Amino acid sequence: MKYGILGDIHANLSALRAVLGHFEREGVEQVLSVGDIVGYGAAPRECIELVRSVNAIVVKGNHDAACVGELDLRYFNNYAREAMRWTQSIVTEEQCQWLASRPFTIDLEHCSVGHGTYRRPELFDYVQSTTDADPSLDVLPTPVCFVGHTHVPVTCLRLRDDPLRTAYTTDTEIDLTESLKALVNVGSVGQPRDEDPRAAYAIFDSERERAWIRRVEYDIEREAQRIRAAGLPSVLADRLFLGV
Ligand code: ZN
Repeated sequence: MKYGILGDIHANLSALRAVLGHFEREGVEQVLSVGDIVGYGAAPRECIELVRSVNAIVVKGNHDAACVGELDLRYFNNYAREAMRWTQSIVTEEQCQWLASRPFTIDLEHCSVGHGTYRRPELFDYVQSTTDADPSLDVLPTPVCFVGHTHVPVTCLRLRDDPLRTAYTTDTEIDLTESLKALVNVGSVGQPRDEDPRAAYAIFDSERERAWIRRVEYDIEREAQRIRAAGLPSVLADRLFLGV
């Protein structure tokens, strides 16, 4: 099975379209989303509908949870909070119900999906070190879990020849035959923060037991204009050009 995995989309329609175009070309059979479809960006309704139209399997991110009132906006910085209030005012009731009914994690035949962590996903903790990855790797029932949340693509893994240690790699091609368990952060479609402004996504080929982090250019100017036109903080448009 060939999976295409969408990292944090954050209501960036141009980036999402570009990535889905690549999925088609790559022959992706199943689309997965690690959550945060909404928040920051100016096309939340369009992004929700597009993700649903490709029958994606979707977990709930912290911005999705905030959108439906499950997470206190106090945990957000000012810009995120302002964008979330705007998002809440324009998503439909039906879209809210759909977002609210997404699970925090999903286990599939070949992999798992979560937003920040696999263990205690409802806390929306950040995996920023191998130590942060350990609790999730300890309980992961499948060989690999795809996550997002930090918007930085990096993989934490336990290698077959050194299973007691958790290692990490920023390699963009991940050979899963070498690992017992892996937590793959796929980066962000709509708001990369690794100083590469191109949209990030992952491809996972379960037969070849390999995953790839890929990047695609998209029309950033168009999406920045959409953010400004919506009256959202201009910093949310400016950061897209920098990938921060
Ligand atoms: Zn996010």
